[in-house]
Amino acid sequence: MTAVPIRRLVEAAETVIAAHAEELTALDQAIGDGDHGLNMVRGFKAVRESAEEIAGLPFGKALQKAGMTLVMKVGGASGPLYGSLLMAMGKAGEEAPGDVARLAEVVGAGVEAVKARGKSDVGAKTMLDVLAPVQAALAGGADIAAVRAAADAGLAATEAMRATKGRAAFLGERSVGHLDPGARSSALLVHAVCDVLEEE
Ligand code: ADP
Ligand code: MG
Repeated sequence: MTAVPIRRLVEAAETVIAAHAEELTALDQAIGDGDHGLNMVRGFKAVRESAEEIAGLPFGKALQKAGMTLVMKVGGASGPLYGSLLMAMGKAGEEAPGDVARLAEVVGAGVEAVKARGKSDVGAKTMLDVLAPVQAALAGGADIAAVRAAADAGLAATEAMRATKGRAAFLGERSVGHLDPGARSSALLVHAVCDVLEEE
């Protein structure tokens, strides 16, 4: 991996979230409170507004700043969770990962932080059902196509799951048959990151 294009990653993340805001809202209306689109738009807009400053920081500090911005700007559960992901990744990776194995370690630290913050794990119908398989794919040395496929499969699997964490858990069995909104936003972000890295 060459230098990580932080600025383009920030722009790509904000763009994909803005383009899918209504879809994220609709998914959250089905099994939550309908604010996931708005929460994500607000958070990533704020990150993009700090793009100049973030892109000027070393890799680890840039991720931490982006994560802190999400925590501060997003009211819903997803803000602190995505914030924890990025902050832990930033702490684990002072410098940009030099290869896929190192990237897997850095993402792994982020996934563990989401589990800890959410008192959650895979199978609970959350963003972890995308993030953990993506991390596992990276740890297995997957190429970009396989990373995308892991995100897509993880997202698809949430449809049949019964939510046991987050607001959707209140619905119990009625949460079955819907994609998880946070898993969808995670899959969108994974694809956006893959797009940028592929263009490098
Ligand atoms: P809120 O649930 O506060 O309205 P959002 O709608 O923005 O916040 O985000 C909901 C998403 O957050 C869910 O779809 C799920 O993916 C994720 N989520 C919620 N609770 C948890 C948790 N405890 N662990 C992991 N992810 C969670
Ligand atoms: Mg919500």
